[in-house]
Amino acid sequence: KLAGRSTHTVFVPEMMEDNKRRLLIANSIANAIKFSEFSIHYQGKVGADEKIVGYEALIRWKSDVLGLVSPAEFIPIAEQSGKILSITKWVIKRVCQELDQVQGLQKNEVMVSVNLSAHDIKNTALVDYIRKMFVRYNVNNASIEFEVTESAYLENFDVANLFLTQLREMGCSIALDDFGAGYSSLGYLTQIELNTLKIDKQFVDNLNVSKRSTLVTKTIIEMAKQLNLQICAEGVETREQAEFLIENGCHQLQGYLFSKPKSLLEMLNI
Ligand code: C2E
Ligand code: CA
Ligand code: CA
Ligand code: CA
Repeated sequence: KLAGRSTHTVFVPEMMEDNKRRLLIANSIANAIKFSEFSIHYQGKVGADEKIVGYEALIRWKSDVLGLVSPAEFIPIAEQSGKILSITKWVIKRVCQELDQVQGLQKNEVMVSVNLSAHDIKNTALVDYIRKMFVRYNVNNASIEFEVTESAYLENFDVANLFLTQLREMGCSIALDDFGAGYSSLGYLTQIELNTLKIDKQFVDNLNVSKRSTLVTKTIIEMAKQLNLQICAEGVETREQAEFLIENGCHQLQGYLFSKPKSLLEMLNI
């Protein structure tokens, strides 16, 4: 019994700390929006000729209380605490505002991808919000792509499909993010209307590591091509990876090798 107690006292404080931080993060989100602690970074995507074809919008949070918090940490917490929709709306609005600013400065239209959470796409009112922001900030619908993961389809396929079909009918593109990571089901590929398949970083990481993983990646690219999808590989860090992917017909590459996420200001200062 005594031993049982002491093992408890070993584990509890850590769990408490963890829960405390999660709670603090969840409770800080509303103020983060209110006091403009969020910002957007843009990461370039390049085509086979290695010229920029678009950007992915990635949220950043510099909190007064917590310092820099990674989206990999706070997005899942926002999802679990029912606060993701407010973040998604903030991201959409900010991206539209910034695109409106840039359109005045740049001649070439840039393609921008926005991440949606699986929780967002249950809410059809969000489609109306997106439409409203596009009109308010003169955004060309065709210049926006939405990235969703397969988990978006897991809970309720019909609801997800309706939401994303509405976005496609507006002229936006849809990308399936993190393909091959987690609970992939090839079944979705036959049922959903997609424009782009984003091959998860883990496949890119494993290129040239083993013959088998290289073959799997090659097969995913081949399959996507047969399905007439654009293929984007994420997390490209080395020349060898880029060469392999381009040789095998990958249309878009994204990764630190080509471009790190940067603020709009940093991008315009190049
Ligand atoms: P993701 O959508 O898969 O985004 C790609 C992540 O990989 C980004 O991390 C990006 O900075 C990072 N990355 C890009 N190239 C490389 C590379 O060459 N090497 C390595 N090691 N990493 C690379 P980030 O910005 O920390 O975002 C993490 C995740 O948080 C995203 O993964 C996405 O799931 C989520 N997220 C970020 N912004 C948003 C947002 O606005 N809304 C939603 N719902 N989720 C977001
Ligand atoms: Ca993404
Ligand atoms: Ca991804
Ligand atoms: Ca990811």
